[in-house]
Amino acid sequence: MKTDVQIAQEAKMLPITEVAKKLELKEDDLIQYGKYKAKIKLDVLKKLQDKKEGKLVLVTAINPTPAGEGKTTINIGLSMGLNKIGKTAITTLREPSLGPSFGIKGGAAGGGYSQVVPMEDINLHFTGDFHAITTAHNLIAALLDNHMHQGNELNIDPRRVVWKRVLDMNDRALRNIVIGLGGRTNGVPREDGFDITAASEIMAIFCLSKDLEDFKKRIGEIVVAYRYDGSPVYAKDLNAEGAVAVLMKDAIQPNLVQTLENTPALIHGGPFANIAHGCNSLLATKIALKLADYTVTEAGFGADLGAEKFFDIKCRFGNLKPDAAVIVATVRALKYNGGVSKDKLGDENLEALKEGFANLEKHIENINKFGVPAVVAINKFPTDTEKELNYVLERCKELGVEAVLSEVWAKGGEGGIELAEAVVKVCETKESNFVPLYDVEDSIKDKIEKIAKEIYGADAVDYTKACEKQIANIEKLGFDKMPICMAKTQYSLTDDPTILGRPKGFRITVRDIKVSKGAGFLVALTGNIMTMPGLPKVPAANNIDILENGEIVGLF
Ligand code: ADP
Ligand code: MG
Repeated sequence: MKTDVQIAQEAKMLPITEVAKKLELKEDDLIQYGKYKAKIKLDVLKKLQDKKEGKLVLVTAINPTPAGEGKTTINIGLSMGLNKIGKTAITTLREPSLGPSFGIKGGAAGGGYSQVVPMEDINLHFTGDFHAITTAHNLIAALLDNHMHQGNELNIDPRRVVWKRVLDMNDRALRNIVIGLGGRTNGVPREDGFDITAASEIMAIFCLSKDLEDFKKRIGEIVVAYRYDGSPVYAKDLNAEGAVAVLMKDAIQPNLVQTLENTPALIHGGPFANIAHGCNSLLATKIALKLADYTVTEAGFGADLGAEKFFDIKCRFGNLKPDAAVIVATVRALKYNGGVSKDKLGDENLEALKEGFANLEKHIENINKFGVPAVVAINKFPTDTEKELNYVLERCKELGVEAVLSEVWAKGGEGGIELAEAVVKVCETKESNFVPLYDVEDSIKDKIEKIAKEIYGADAVDYTKACEKQIANIEKLGFDKMPICMAKTQYSLTDDPTILGRPKGFRITVRDIKVSKGAGFLVALTGNIMTMPGLPKVPAANNIDILENGEIVGLF
């Protein structure tokens, strides 16, 4: 088998104008970034406002093994499969972050014969969106520190600045820093730190905004610090929103690229799936819905986190009505959930598979709670045995849920025809009665409890003392009527990554609540959530190189 980058380099890409033509986009609707990448102008949405929207399909997954179970791969493959059966389809994805690209081996542009291209560009600087976000974020930080230096008219408490700096790199040494050292002329000394760009609230805002005006307004609403009297200081108090919007005017336009089989792909925005909602931009999804019969989109992590936030945050804000959800499951992740260790996942083990199937069953139930019909896609790996695959198919049949094998990784769109047919069948025959899980007007605790009990299967929720205080304060400030963005481990339905399968009789502990006023949600943190990752002992960067002929090697 060839490596992902080899397969990608052999792709016969169409000029991006040709890809756009398939969607009936004109050259004037595009801003080209070379031959194979373009941004789509936002006025396309206005032009198409009367056009009927296509179907919206979410790709989500069971609780995965640490290697990932193939949501992106299936997302891309499904769109290619839909093309093969005569439907227009667009895959909409998140933009990869540079941190993981140079850290742990593993791309974010699909895999095998199910990838988006030009893969190297998409995985590196792409069209510069992440750099724009980094700059916009750090502009607010610079304005804030300058304000304190110039007399601090707003009375900002330097110990309560919540707006950190960001960088699109895994760099643990920057997690906690001291700034403003070197005397009077060099600013006000205080503790600070860096997050990775994907964790910036600007990234979340960028992905939830309806247009540049809405974006600007939300930027102004960001809480950047608190005063000595405890009252919040907003980005608008620093007059930051105008300059930030200017920096972001190009980035906010969705990026058009293509799959290995020339299916259009919109790749735009890349918020963290823990402290943010983990989906591509609402604008990309909205534009895709206008342009194709089927929009296939992805939410980060398993369905307990990704799908829940997609439904309760993105769909709620964007008024989206998902028509179906594809739950990606792999035999190896089911066995992992059934207690098999990572090094033994290649061995046939029907006992463990049976045990781990309960995890998939829970996710199917959860998707149904939102009123959205589910399709299970079994992402076939070379090590799966016939018996194992049949077992999963049988059990799904018993549950009355549509389940199909997907071989898009090995065969591209051809391997996704069956899945595409199943998705079309479900979209055409089963009605989606989508409803969010909770009412935003409910109390913070009621909302969290509902997610924990209904989606995770917990008995109850505990709050640390500090968190109780925060909740009281958030209520006092009137920030409590926003959706909840849960930050939890992706490996378990509980807040402990070692408890797999479908656990019962457990409690969830919320230790911190973060206000993302601009994005419009409250982040409830369970366990330890890293917002600035580190590099592993042998970073992927060590193997990445460019040869004399310009060929890139080692990028997955
Ligand atoms: P996710 O989006 O769920 O994190 P990805 O689609 O990025 O997962 O896939 C994770 C990794 O697994 C990628 O390196 C991809 O190439 C690989 N992969 C996905 N599906 C298969 C498969 N069927 N067989 C072998 N490798 C696969
Ligand atoms: Mg993915």
